[in-house]
Amino acid sequence: MDTQLTWYGHAAFKIKTPTGKILLIDPWITNPAFASGKDELASLNRVDLVFLTHGHGDHVGNTVEIGKRTGATLVSSFDLNAAIVSVLGYPQEQAGNETTGHLGGQLSLLDGEVNVQFVPAWHGSSIERVNAPPVYAGNPTGLIISLRDGPAIYHTGDTDLFSDMALVKRFHRIDAMLVCIGDHFTMGPARAAEAVKLVAPKTVIPMHYGTFPVLTGNPQAFERELKKRNVKARLRTMHAGETIALDGKAKS
Ligand SMILES: [Zn+2]
Repeated sequence: MDTQLTWYGHAAFKIKTPTGKILLIDPWITNPAFASGKDELASLNRVDLVFLTHGHGDHVGNTVEIGKRTGATLVSSFDLNAAIVSVLGYPQEQAGNETTGHLGGQLSLLDGEVNVQFVPAWHGSSIERVNAPPVYAGNPTGLIISLRDGPAIYHTGDTDLFSDMALVKRFHRIDAMLVCIGDHFTMGPARAAEAVKLVAPKTVIPMHYGTFPVLTGNPQAFERELKKRNVKARLRTMHAGETIALDGKAKS
């Protein structure tokens, strides 16, 4: 069976593995760019793993509701897991040591079917609260998720371009790079194109743009910047709610 990737808009994705496991990344499913977000959220009854890159509300999104309803296990950094449990009430027994990692660490999940590598991202990370200071949530991360008999997927998280992205390809052949291009809070199209060049994925899928007016980076500008740099990766622009099949067999 194929691996299927759904984009929910913003930085939120669903991965269905070749054996049918459901993984979510930064599941802000009710974001303003996804019209049927509420229905999709209600229909998510089975979720195996929820991955988070950092603690900001536009990434944590519907995580706690999904965790409580489906029993999904939380996969993120040590500080972020601790903050989500203590501040937002994510069930502690679903955020244990086996699925809590940190930068440089590689975790084997679901009996080895899923492997995640935590890599750096240049951003911030905190849990916002109403009428109270935000709570520290550690360093933000990018995530490289490799599936057994499936692709390796690099979700950059929110980040600027940084030269150490070039190290990714020493360890992973990336089939799909999910890259932020919206500018303002992250890199925009030109810097994102430079990041793609460093990582050299087979396919690149832009994200984190257009959700709010300030996120002005767009796929057209991104495509121009990729061409300018002769980047070989295939650009695949998705629309919110779209599902595509991903090929590629992760080697690690
Ligand atoms: Zn964000």
